[in-house]
Amino acid sequence: MNGPAILTAECLGKTFNGFVANRDVNFSLRAGELTALIGPNGAGKSTLFNMLSGSLRPTSGRLLLRGRDIVGQPHHRFVHFGISKSHQITSLFMESTAAENVYYALEAPARALNFWDVRDTRASQADRVFELLNLVDLAGKASCAARTLSHGEQRSLEIAVALASEPKVLLLDEPTAGMGPQETVQVIALIKKLRQTLTIAIVEHKMKLVMDISDRIIVLHHGEILAEGTPEEIANNSDVKAVYLGDKHVAH
Ligand code: ADP
Ligand code: MG
Repeated sequence: MNGPAILTAECLGKTFNGFVANRDVNFSLRAGELTALIGPNGAGKSTLFNMLSGSLRPTSGRLLLRGRDIVGQPHHRFVHFGISKSHQITSLFMESTAAENVYYALEAPARALNFWDVRDTRASQADRVFELLNLVDLAGKASCAARTLSHGEQRSLEIAVALASEPKVLLLDEPTAGMGPQETVQVIALIKKLRQTLTIAIVEHKMKLVMDISDRIIVLHHGEILAEGTPEEIANNSDVKAVYLGDKHVAH
């Protein structure tokens, strides 16, 4: 617990044509911790994740990767720095096989820029595809077209794709969205496995699940941090209770 800060948001803000989606957001993702980001719909969770992953440029503030400001760097540099996001909206090539999807991710331009990496022969590439599929329990489906996989398997495949760039920080935006209880359990087991080697931040609505897997929880409300703490602190926080009172997500 309380490892060094890997990624730090300092007064991070995002405005869309005058509409404030995030304001003065300050927190750190720490090595070895799983941080959950929760908050009502429209609270600014995805916008914040998009800034952390470099797909959206902040309007204000800084984003420090081990102390170095990386705001304004292009998205592929974020990937190269070891920050990877699995998308809320599916990003797979549906007509391609599971193995091909991972293979494309390994071949992505961001990796080509990694000229220190001399391991990428064709053979080791095939090994790596299998390794990643195995990690997400999809080795048996390597030759299946992505569109034939179940929703849960597609989400797992997206995680394998996100892992292809060998991230240090993995951002998961609603990885269990649209899943039934059984698929949710599988994806959560995968996240628990990954957290042993990765710094993970997750946006998740299922509160029981958030309480179960998180080291720390950040609550966003109207684009700002309302509370931050351990699951126990958040569960007992009166501001948080007030925001969630009557909210359907509490019931999960
Ligand atoms: P959450 O993920 O917490 O549901 P979002 O970050 O998606 O919230 O959105 C926060 C707010 O910012 C919402 O009111 C949304 O309509 C607005 N927003 C998000 N992206 C854009 C955009 N590209 N242009 C304009 N408004 C946006
Ligand atoms: Mg969202």
